[in-house]
Amino acid sequence: MAFGVYVHIPYCIQRCTYCDFATYEQSKILPPDQYVELLFKEIRQKHRYYPPQSLDTIYFGGGTPSLIPAHLIVAIIKELGRFGFTTRPDTEITIEINPATINKEKLKIYLDNGVNRFSVGAQTFDDRLLKMVHREHSAKQTLETLDLLREHNLNFSFDILFALPSQTVDGLKNDVKIAIEQGAKHISPYCLTVPDGHPLSKGRPLEEEQVEMFDIIANELTAKGFQQYEISNFALPGFESRHNMLYWVDEPYWSLGLSSHSYSKESAWGTRYWNINNINDYQKQILAFDGQEFASPAKHLPENQFEILEMHQALTDFCHTSMRLMRGLNVAQLQNKFPQNVSDKVLSILARLQEKSWVKNDSGHWYLTREGLVLSNRVFQELTFLSEDV
Ligand code: SF4
Repeated sequence: MAFGVYVHIPYCIQRCTYCDFATYEQSKILPPDQYVELLFKEIRQKHRYYPPQSLDTIYFGGGTPSLIPAHLIVAIIKELGRFGFTTRPDTEITIEINPATINKEKLKIYLDNGVNRFSVGAQTFDDRLLKMVHREHSAKQTLETLDLLREHNLNFSFDILFALPSQTVDGLKNDVKIAIEQGAKHISPYCLTVPDGHPLSKGRPLEEEQVEMFDIIANELTAKGFQQYEISNFALPGFESRHNMLYWVDEPYWSLGLSSHSYSKESAWGTRYWNINNINDYQKQILAFDGQEFASPAKHLPENQFEILEMHQALTDFCHTSMRLMRGLNVAQLQNKFPQNVSDKVLSILARLQEKSWVKNDSGHWYLTREGLVLSNRVFQELTFLSEDV
């Protein structure tokens, strides 16, 4: 069984207008060393939820983890090790970095301490669009950051934001072209999502144009050897995100820090638990349990911060996460995890969806067709189960 840890670092230089992650402008939140102290306390409180083991992945996300001093990132890796969650030479350790928040010295500290994958939140190389969404960096700074990563021949992933107001197809193609030329091994295109009435909701490409934009990105990437391995992730062979795969293949993961969500297999159908998303309340809760250790979320957290899954919820999660992957749902895994009448029910739904050409069946896997990809929300709706369904 693979296992990984996510660490949320909620600091940003400034807030981007479209962002709904739990993050703060760095001056509006406690200093990073104090936040990391809270993470240490959280590690102590929750380490017994999981057996000590060497980690397959660690992922520092945010926020902008590269904004805080690099020695604090190292201290978190070491603290996990102190509680038996050690790293190996092949542990994938990813850090999200934003252009203009990293330099040679910081990079050296990361590399000397096992960080081996970088996720660059650059979004576009168009300065006009960067300004529009209040990103704090320029295209020039992104290129400088990528130069630094390339100098060391590093494995990095690149996020591309599309469907922005007034964004053109040519501009988007240019973003993809530069990201590939710069050596990205993994590219995640994200469609801008903002509610109606949001300043960025005006002048956006229509829904059909958004689908077309995604197709253009997919075509450009596949022509250059990238494979779409998940609904919104592409990678060169061998460079898929091992950490994100944990979320999609029903493996447990432990997440630390503000607003983070975790999954453990301590109960029959799995347990989900999560942290508060307001920094003051998060801090209060961690301090309230200072020095204590707990064996499970149910013995530690209030009822509104964990859920012991029932079979129908586990089945829905299993179907949704596996169908996000292009390799699809593994029939043997489904039959292994759920009783026969339940797996038969899922297979009959999939057979019905095949008649609509939304899914296909091959070598023991069911996966989305091109049409199913566009209509994936409807496929997921069909594969959502209530307690009376199972
Ligand atoms: S830098 Fe990233 S996490 Fe921070 S506000 Fe912008 S989009 Fe959100």
